[in-house]
Amino acid sequence: MKRTESHVVVGAGIAGCLAAIMRRRAGYEVTLLERNGARCTGAYPVCTQTSNIVSENHSGAEYPFDPRSARDCLDGRIENERLFPLLIFGGKTYSRIIAAQSMMDDGHDIISQCRANMEVIRSHYARRCEQDPSNSVFGEPSSVCREISTVPGVEDAASTFLTPQRGINPVLVSTILDWELRALGVDFREDSEVTAVTRGEDGRYRVEYTTADGAVEEHVVADQISLCTATGAFGMAKRLNPAIVLPEVFMALRAILYVDLPDGTEKNFTCLKLEDSYGGMFSPLNDRCAMIYHPPAAHIMNVVMDPQMCNLPAKYAHYLRTGHPELEQRAEWTLERLREFYPELRRSRVLRAYLKVAVNTVPDSRVRRNIGVFRVLAGATMTVLSKWTMCAMNTRRELSLALEHSVSSGNVAAGEASDLLAQAMGAHWKLPPTWTSEPATLTAQARKHAVNMNVPEALAQQFQGHREALMAVQSCPAASYDALDRVSVHNHAAQ
Ligand SMILES: Cc1cc2nc3c(=O)[nH]c(=O)nc-3n(C[C@H](O)[C@H](O)[C@H](O)COP(=O)(O)OP(=O)(O)OC[C@H]3O[C@@H](n4cnc5c(N)ncnc54)[C@H](O)[C@@H]3O)c2cc1C
Repeated sequence: MKRTESHVVVGAGIAGCLAAIMRRRAGYEVTLLERNGARCTGAYPVCTQTSNIVSENHSGAEYPFDPRSARDCLDGRIENERLFPLLIFGGKTYSRIIAAQSMMDDGHDIISQCRANMEVIRSHYARRCEQDPSNSVFGEPSSVCREISTVPGVEDAASTFLTPQRGINPVLVSTILDWELRALGVDFREDSEVTAVTRGEDGRYRVEYTTADGAVEEHVVADQISLCTATGAFGMAKRLNPAIVLPEVFMALRAILYVDLPDGTEKNFTCLKLEDSYGGMFSPLNDRCAMIYHPPAAHIMNVVMDPQMCNLPAKYAHYLRTGHPELEQRAEWTLERLREFYPELRRSRVLRAYLKVAVNTVPDSRVRRNIGVFRVLAGATMTVLSKWTMCAMNTRRELSLALEHSVSSGNVAAGEASDLLAQAMGAHWKLPPTWTSEPATLTAQARKHAVNMNVPEALAQQFQGHREALMAVQSCPAASYDALDRVSVHNHAAQ
C-alpha cells in the first residue's frame, strides 16, 4: 500500500466488527464507531443489538420452500466454516431440522419438501466443491445431508434432517471479535452515535458523531467508509447518494427469548421444528440455558420501509424504546407451546425476552436471501445482513470493494489487492491458547460480554464435554460433520 488509508466503519454488530477486522488485516487504519457504550469494563460493546440473539449458522435446511434461500445460506455457512474458530460453537454440534408429525397428519407433506431441499443443498455443495476444493469443509458432498427417523427427547417428530446447519453462541462470538479488534489495534470508539456522513470535494468522507448523552459533537475524516448499522444503514446510504437503488425492505418485528434449564438437557444441538403453528426452535446454548422461538408468538408485525426516508417506522422505534405490551404474554405462549415438544422445558422460566427487527427483501419469513453489499459511492459501502450466517461472505465482498477503490485511487497495485484479500480473509485469529486449555479464562471474559450484550450471564458457559469434542475434531481436521456428530453423541452418552 503506497499510502495507509484511514477507514471508518459505523456499527459494531457482526457486520461492522468483521468489516473493521478485515480492513485492518488488509493494512488500513480503521476506526469503528458504535452508538452503544459498555456496561462492563474490560470488554467492548460489540454485538449489542440484533447480533445478541443469534443462535443458528444456517445451512439452508431451514428454508425448504425456496431453493435460492437454501443456496445463499449454504454459501454463507461454507465461508463461516472457513473463517471462524471452533470456539464460537461452545460445544454445540449439528442442528436437527425436524418435520412435524402433526403437520403430516394435517395433510402437509413437509417430509417430501425437506427431502427435496436436501437435494438442493447436496447438489449446490457438490458444485461449490468442484469450483474450488477448499470449499469442501463438510466432507464428501454425498454425505453432507442425512435423514434420521427421530430425535430422542423430541415429541411430534415425523422425520429429522441432519445438514451442516450448526448453532453458535453469540457471547463467544463477541468475545473473539473483541479480542481480535484489540490485537489488531482497531480504534474502537463506543458511545459514538453517527449523525451525518458527507463526502467532500476531495472525495474523502466526514463522519459526524455525538459522544455519550449526545453532549459532545465530534467528527472524523476518512478515505473510505463502511456503513453497518442494520436498518439504519439504508437511510445513511440514501442521504449520501439519493440516486442509489435499494431493494424493497420488509422489517419484521419479532419476539425471542432465553430460558433457563433447571433440569439440564441431553441435547448439545439445536432442534428446529419447521413451519408456523407446528414449529419451534429449542437452541440450548449450554446445559443450563436455551434460546426458544415459536413462529406464531414471535411474529408481531411486518412493515415495508419507506423507500425515500428509509427510517424505522415510528411505531417500531417506540416499541424498541419502551417495550411492546404483548412481549411478556408472547414469551409465555412460546414457552407453553414448546413444552409440548421439548420435555426439558417442563420447569423452565423466562430469563429475558427481546423485541428485534428482522430485515428481509420479501414479506415471507420462509424466504431469506442474501441482501448483499452495496457500493453507495466510490469508497463507501453498505452491508445489511438478512442473516448472521451471511456475515463472512459479505465481508469478503465488502473488503474487495474497498480494495478496488484503493486500486483505482492508486494506493494499492492491482496484483496486490487479491493477495491482501486472501490474506485478510484467512482464519488467522490471534486468540489466547489458554481459552482452549483453560476454559474458565474464556468464560470470565465472555461473562463481561454477556453483560454488555444484555443477555443472561449463563450464556458465557460452554457445554460440558466440549473440550473432548473439540480435541477429537482437532485431531482429525478432515472429519466430516457426520464424524463430529458421532463424537458429540458419544460424549453425551458418556456423561
Ligand atoms: C429474532 C431474530 C433471530 C435471528 N436469529 C438468527 C439466527 O439464528 N441466525 C442467523 O443467521 N441470523 C439470525 N437473525 C438475523 C441476524 O440477527 C442479523 O442478520 C444480524 O445479527 C445483523 O447483524 P448486523 O451487524 O448487520 O446488525 P446489528 O447486530 O444490529 O448491528 C448494528 C450495530 O450498529 C449500531 N448502530 C446503529 N446505528 C448507529 C449509529 N447511528 N451510529 C453508530 N452505531 C450505530 C448498533 O448499536 C449495532 O451495534 C435473527 C434476527 C432476528 C430478529
